[in-house]
Amino acid sequence: MTPGLLVVPDWHGRSPLDADPAFVDWLRVRAEEGAEIFLHGERHDEVGSPRGWRDAWSAWGKTAREGEFLTLDEGAAYERIARGVALLTRLGLPPIGFVPPAWLARPECDRAVSAAGLRFSENDHSILLLERGARLPSPVVRWSGRTALRAHGSAVVAAARWTLQRGSPHVRIALHPGDLDHAVTARSLAYWLERWVADRTPTGYAAL
Ligand SMILES: [Zn+2]
Repeated sequence: MTPGLLVVPDWHGRSPLDADPAFVDWLRVRAEEGAEIFLHGERHDEVGSPRGWRDAWSAWGKTAREGEFLTLDEGAAYERIARGVALLTRLGLPPIGFVPPAWLARPECDRAVSAAGLRFSENDHSILLLERGARLPSPVVRWSGRTALRAHGSAVVAAARWTLQRGSPHVRIALHPGDLDHAVTARSLAYWLERWVADRTPTGYAAL
């Protein structure tokens, strides 16, 4: 099983990828092993992008101010995506798709992703195949270890997804490094990952 990797060019404006050659080398080795690379925002936070009330409503309960693309119109989204694609390509990590932080973006963001030459975009309900203009329904099994309450809640939801969404043809399993910080999410993640992988054959996005 080879995971796709969601790469942030400059996390919170304090981890510029091109200043960290060891991490870039690590990513390149993973890509050579078959990991598909996705651009995952530019900074992964909302600094400099104030929310309107509609944005706040869309993001409610979903993220701790990590919805970088939540407030961006098509032009602003394109600028960041095009910069990210150029950077990753220059570093030898050409991305095949874009995943907005917290899966939060305006609908027009998909056009920006397509204009930047990427083949996949997604939200938390579906994967968009931009070349074919097709949208595949796809639930995401994911966790949050940010607080104890969220850790327990996400473990409950992960279990419910097995019951409710096991029949879905395309299921994504999304892991964050922080999920392992909390024992409850770490345990739930290990358990469900094994069950999902035993239940079906994992594939990459290119196979779609
Ligand atoms: Zn993220």
